[in-house]
Amino acid sequence: MVSETISSQQAIDLENKYGAHNYHPLPVVLSRGEGVYVWDVEGKRYYDFLSAYSAVNQGHCHPKIISALTEQASKLTLTSRAFYNDVLGSYEKFVTEFFGYEKVLPMNTGAEAVETAIKLCRKYAYEKKGIAENDAQIIVCKNNFHGRTTTIISFSNDEDARKNFGPFTAGFIKIEYDNLQALEEAFKSSNNIAGFLVEPIQGEAGVYVPSEGYLKKAKALCEKYDVLFIADEVQTGVARTGKLLAVNHENVQPDILILGKALSGGVYPVSAVFANDEIMNVIKPGQHGSTFGGNPLACAVAIAALNVVKEEALAENAEKLGNLFRSEIQNRLVDKCDLVKLVRGKGLLNAIVINDSEASSTAWDICIKLRDNGLLAKPTHGNIIRFAPPLVMDKEQLLDCVSIITKTISEF
Ligand SMILES: *Cc1c(COP(=O)(O)O)cnc(C)c1O
Repeated sequence: MVSETISSQQAIDLENKYGAHNYHPLPVVLSRGEGVYVWDVEGKRYYDFLSAYSAVNQGHCHPKIISALTEQASKLTLTSRAFYNDVLGSYEKFVTEFFGYEKVLPMNTGAEAVETAIKLCRKYAYEKKGIAENDAQIIVCKNNFHGRTTTIISFSNDEDARKNFGPFTAGFIKIEYDNLQALEEAFKSSNNIAGFLVEPIQGEAGVYVPSEGYLKKAKALCEKYDVLFIADEVQTGVARTGKLLAVNHENVQPDILILGKALSGGVYPVSAVFANDEIMNVIKPGQHGSTFGGNPLACAVAIAALNVVKEEALAENAEKLGNLFRSEIQNRLVDKCDLVKLVRGKGLLNAIVINDSEASSTAWDICIKLRDNGLLAKPTHGNIIRFAPPLVMDKEQLLDCVSIITKTISEF
């Protein structure tokens, strides 16, 4: 039974005692959310500046998404793909037209969608490109984050994520991010390259925005060497960076597109892999799947979540407010205060770098003080703090948040 009157400390103690310690949360216990705000169990209100790692782009408990959820939940939630359901096909038509692909393969979490993309890329390489079985290689970037499965951590270089989880999956080549020369050298080094898997902005690594033109040129190199360009837009997609997709900033159409997180507005786990027929049709019945993938509840929620993105012009808002945020933080913090080295990002996916070592606790201490002052954010890598509010924020709220951030950090 869930108690209505649990205190923050009680909730934290319960998680500590009964839950695996695989996270280190900021000490705040939330019980309600609406739009850009969340409330803790004691009733204190905060601006959410993480948005569940950019899953809640549409804002907390958006009434249109919640209404789609409850309406569908009372009709039909899960059939499995053993049978057809009356929402999946409509969702597939809607979502492929929305993102401009011929086909979609529905999954649940981001990591599952990345796994799906890897399997699809390999199968295509063997069946359409003529690479010898088990020889396919996929190029990935240093400091990537693509999820937590055994195969995905096989090509991570985060030692915390990897240590003592081996043996690992073979078939990945790691190169420097934002380095076209390294990419072309990798293409030249082998005839077995099947794909290039890349985040348009490296989110978890600390919001690293590549040089302008990188994605476009990387895509052109992929075409030259007949390699699939696979974009992991689980964090950057769905309006976060000021366009529907981050690759839209450079007019790139990935061969395989991976979405998750905000595809459902953070209401339900919904992920998807997009490709055109030539690629997607290599997967035949029985070769890949998921019990929950494409369930009617997920489909109804995702349609509503994407409609909100369009109706409320969230990409345009993210673009506008992102520019304002970076210029305000630059002028009021970076230029004035030695503690903040720089601000970077695109749209409303931004980060500041604290002028201290990666091992220092300064960024964490700042996040604790931000919490006290009514704004929730979390360090990514030691001295980097990511700022990613829901995209339904308005200008006045954003400026209020800039004031909280500048005041808090100036006091350090
Ligand atoms: C969050 C994330 C994932 C993994 O998604 P999960 O739903 O946590 O499995 C994959 N790729 C990127 C870029 C992400 O940010």
